[in-house]
Amino acid sequence: MKPSDTWNSRSREPSLAEAPILHVDLDAFFASVEVLDDPSLRGRPVAVGGAGARGVIASASYEARRYGVASGMASVTALRRCANLVIRPGRFDRYEEISQQFRAIVADTTSRYEAIGLDELFCDLTGLARRGVRPVEAARALRARVVDELRLDCGIGVARNKLFAKLASREAKARVVRGQLVAGPGVFYVDPATEARWLAELPVRALWGVGPATAAKLTSLGLTHVRDVARVDERDLASHLGPALAATLASFARGEDPREVVSDRRVKSLGHEQTFARSLVGGEVVAAARVHAGVISRALRERHQLARTLSIVVRFDDRESLSRSQTLAFGVDDDEAIFRISEALLAGVDTSRAVRLLGIHASSFLARGSSEVQLSFAVASAQETRQRALEESRSRQVAHAALRDAVDEVRRRYGNDALSRASEIGELATQRGRYAFGPALGDADEGADGR
Ligand SMILES: [Mg+2]
Repeated sequence: MKPSDTWNSRSREPSLAEAPILHVDLDAFFASVEVLDDPSLRGRPVAVGGAGARGVIASASYEARRYGVASGMASVTALRRCANLVIRPGRFDRYEEISQQFRAIVADTTSRYEAIGLDELFCDLTGLARRGVRPVEAARALRARVVDELRLDCGIGVARNKLFAKLASREAKARVVRGQLVAGPGVFYVDPATEARWLAELPVRALWGVGPATAAKLTSLGLTHVRDVARVDERDLASHLGPALAATLASFARGEDPREVVSDRRVKSLGHEQTFARSLVGGEVVAAARVHAGVISRALRERHQLARTLSIVVRFDDRESLSRSQTLAFGVDDDEAIFRISEALLAGVDTSRAVRLLGIHASSFLARGSSEVQLSFAVASAQETRQRALEESRSRQVAHAALRDAVDEVRRRYGNDALSRASEIGELATQRGRYAFGPALGDADEGADGR
């Protein structure tokens, strides 16, 4: 019984009010672009990543996935699984170019979209009700345009909130089952009438923010599926996991996700940028990021705000610049988390080139104390009781697991290791271009959504 047959309601199309959120995700993006530009690769197992001894796979074609190759895997392991795997270094100028085309197509449907990577975005169709738009129909039309105009495939999830839409886009895609490629429906709609049962059966790993570290922690508590999390009292969960993570997981397990789609032009950010008197290289850039993180975290705390999106901007001596961003499943306002995420975003930037300017920006704000999770690293003060200190230390450990997963997600999204290692062998340094990752922050006001 394939979930798509059971849960993708074909008998009744939802109204816009029932399912206004789309999650659009291009398939195996980097690898697919390589195949697009070099048709001799078609049908062959292809990956983008570092080919060297310590290289990591950033993106793998479906043909490669049939052999068990996956993103985040060491290239050595990937080649062991698939001896004729073609590994290409990344061409980020090209990925960015196609990403812009992708956003332009989406912008024809709605200006209310939020890019969360080069190949992935959310749309909110609520404003199109007067035009009589039906969400599944709109998703099919959008997918047809992406396939026709970009010659790339994508999966689209249609649901009432971001949580379900993102889970649904995975269901929309092709998958590998016992070494065979099984086509997906392309568009997958999560029916509110059956969504709870569907969600319950998913592994905890499917939830946003649950990476390997948090999943291992949950498994050690006997919680392997969302249904297990849903059955546990939130206070019990909090006693094992700390209150912050428990609150998020409990909310997701109930199918609740209050996050709105925030279109680029409405992005408000709080940033700290510095042009250095003397250009910095390597570890000096990382040290500057630590100072910036301190400034941002103080500003956030003063405003009683948490940020879910962190971005970095780097400008080199030759005036070339790039930006990267990552949206987290939780809000942050402390130095440590902001620094660690920024450091992960910096990891793939070639800082052997002289860096003239570094900026860190925080956006996607939440009010402190909102129902969404805060990742707290506050150290218990000496006056606090031993019990309180124990709780703090436990919740800090858990917070570190969540943070480790978030850093892991940054690496997976941007293939940091793969790219820094590719540049070590000299293939990538000349190919990385302006605004190689994500939208340029300075251009946010003149973004693609002019309609
Ligand atoms: Mg993708």
